Amino acid sequence: MLISISCTIKECQNFIEEVYGFHNDRHFSLWDMISNVERFAMRGLKGIRKNDREKARLNLLISLSWFLSVMNRLHIDLDEEVWNRFPHLCSYCAACPCTCKEEKVLKRRKAPVNMKNQPKTLGQFQEMFEAIYPHEKRTIDHAGVHLAEELGEFSEAILKFRGEHKDDHFNEVKIEAADVFSNMMGVFNSMKIDLAKELSSMFYNNCHECHKAPCECSFEFILKYDS
Ligand SMILES: [Zn+2]
Ligand SMILES: [Zn+2]
Repeated sequence: MLISISCTIKECQNFIEEVYGFHNDRHFSLWDMISNVERFAMRGLKGIRKNDREKARLNLLISLSWFLSVMNRLHIDLDEEVWNRFPHLCSYCAACPCTCKEEKVLKRRKAPVNMKNQPKTLGQFQEMFEAIYPHEKRTIDHAGVHLAEELGEFSEAILKFRGEHKDDHFNEVKIEAADVFSNMMGVFNSMKIDLAKELSSMFYNNCHECHKAPCECSFEFILKYDS
């Protein structure tokens, strides 16, 4: 199995399920998986702080793959949730490009949905985020801090949902998941990384380490993985 360069987000999610679903079900709780999303995202941010592009790139890609595992565990269709939250417009000011910095938008505006603008592939989603949030308007450090902030909000939404199991709380989880994805795209855009290309070269043959589907990497190997 592989991730093709013209894959959709859904196809990436399905690939991750085929390769890592079995291992995840057996060894990792939801919280374990979220810890790995954060663990690798933070390593990626360390790479940004230290100006180590390779460290940032690889760790952020691994963080994203854990994030897709979390989406699979919760049966969230990220394709749909990202489009609901970002219909080719900023989720807050409802403009493209976003004007949140220039005008003081006090209340979230309702974004009109034009299905014609809906991206199909992961690459098109990445381009959409560059159009809404052009990378020249922020520094890479700013993009990284924003990603960390959104990961915190995602954890908070999960905590609430797992506490009370209310539908409203699950909707918040979906919204925060879309925000995490948007900010991951923001960091990749700031780093000028073509995500679909990177994923297709990383996942050209099943798991990026053991090249098996399902993955046969040992628990200990994953725990000690240092990239
Ligand atoms: Zn905006
Ligand atoms: Zn493996």
